[in-house]
Amino acid sequence: MSQKNNNNVVVRFAPSPTGFMHVGNLRTALYAWLWAKKNNGIFILRIEDTDKEREVAGAKEHILKVLKWIGINWDEGPDIGGPHSPYTQSERLDIYKKYAQILIEKGLAYADPYTEEEVENLRKKAEEEKKAFLYREHRPEKFDKWDSTKPLRFKVPVIKNYKWNDLVYGDLSAGPEALDDFILIKSDGYPTYNFCHIVDDIEMGITHVIRGQEYISSIPKYLSLYEALDVKPPIFACLPHILGSDGNKKLGKRDGAKDCLEYKDEGYLPEAFLNFLVLLGWHPSDDKEIFTVEELANIFSLDRVQKAGARWNDEKLNWFNKKYIQMLSDKKFSEFVDEFMPAEIKNLTNYNEKVERIIPIIKERIEKFEDIKDMHERGELKYFFERPEYNSKSLMWKDEKDIQNTKKYLEEILNILNKIQDNDFNSVSIKDAVWNFATENGKGNVLWPMRYALSGIDKSPDPFILASLLGKKDTLSRIETAIKKI
Ligand code: GLU
Repeated sequence: MSQKNNNNVVVRFAPSPTGFMHVGNLRTALYAWLWAKKNNGIFILRIEDTDKEREVAGAKEHILKVLKWIGINWDEGPDIGGPHSPYTQSERLDIYKKYAQILIEKGLAYADPYTEEEVENLRKKAEEEKKAFLYREHRPEKFDKWDSTKPLRFKVPVIKNYKWNDLVYGDLSAGPEALDDFILIKSDGYPTYNFCHIVDDIEMGITHVIRGQEYISSIPKYLSLYEALDVKPPIFACLPHILGSDGNKKLGKRDGAKDCLEYKDEGYLPEAFLNFLVLLGWHPSDDKEIFTVEELANIFSLDRVQKAGARWNDEKLNWFNKKYIQMLSDKKFSEFVDEFMPAEIKNLTNYNEKVERIIPIIKERIEKFEDIKDMHERGELKYFFERPEYNSKSLMWKDEKDIQNTKKYLEEILNILNKIQDNDFNSVSIKDAVWNFATENGKGNVLWPMRYALSGIDKSPDPFILASLLGKKDTLSRIETAIKKI
């Protein structure tokens, strides 16, 4: 860590365990992490779990799992600790009380005298009068001493217009309508997000607060709280939403955006997913698209984050994934194949012996490893290991009229292939050997039955590749079987 933080950049990712992490959260984490990396800064993971009603069991573990899958690591966090431990807000209640006390002593926090019902009635009344509801308009003249059974409210010190700069959205400002006496500590003893994230950002020395654009409208509130506490606010950078592929809807938990681990389960590679995600809302100064994390850490910058929402694009994600799949080592690729291969195929005799041979076909045909299951469903795997079953009529090319011709072609192919030396039985020599005969008699007439005899399905790789993958012995015997069927 000696190289770290030479210019004091401290960034945090602060998810709430209220559901499963989706791509919007992950992209926020990624941008914050890259910003820390670029600046040799510190990246903190903080779990914001003070909304106990909305907390979902297992969500915290899920968040850590997603981050680890994509390769985002943190310098300080709930699992590894750090100088500001603990990193889970529900374990930091004393710290928030201390800050609440400071505000109480300054006369800037007070016990809410109303019941929840009374506040609700005031809200309704404002609605009926078509006015915005502002709690501060009902602020009591005198405050009771706060005894923790009532909510503690912030007393906004000054009602004014705030101006601030956002690294993505530029100069922003908002007027008094954005300021109100919000709750600092609820009657259940837990602080609100609005309060405790500010306390933590101060305590943890956060320099850049990077989060979704939905927080822009609350920033005046936060600025007034910083002012009340006499602390200089951090730099803000709000990120645009990720939009659904229709370009309209925000892609959020409520829209059913997928849990990030589903992408893992579908056989997306974390490097590909990261590369795709970083370009959803940020772009480099040139057209380069494939990046290592180290490259990104060098060139990433918040001022190149676009203001408009970025559109989700499954095709692009698949394109990236395919690119990264092509770059995998043979060993790694085989490990994924092993993980995703349906049991029905794995249980076939010969599977272990032959699986390596079909690797190139799989590599060519999939965009994500789950596609192996689709290949299986289309019958594109089984025939490598077992002789295919088919009806002899299927051996005939669609323009062929007489099946006896098909038989003759297969006999001649058998004859030609037989002459190829065993150690020269590869797709190039097979093609060389068959090509003249095929062109003289019609490629479809000749090559369709050859391919069908080998695979037993309509869609498969070309017959030269198939023959070379099956090997000479198996190829000849499959063609003999086809001839016998006619
Ligand atoms: N806990 C907040 C959320 O999950 C974090 C917002 C922030 O980064 O300040 O949306």
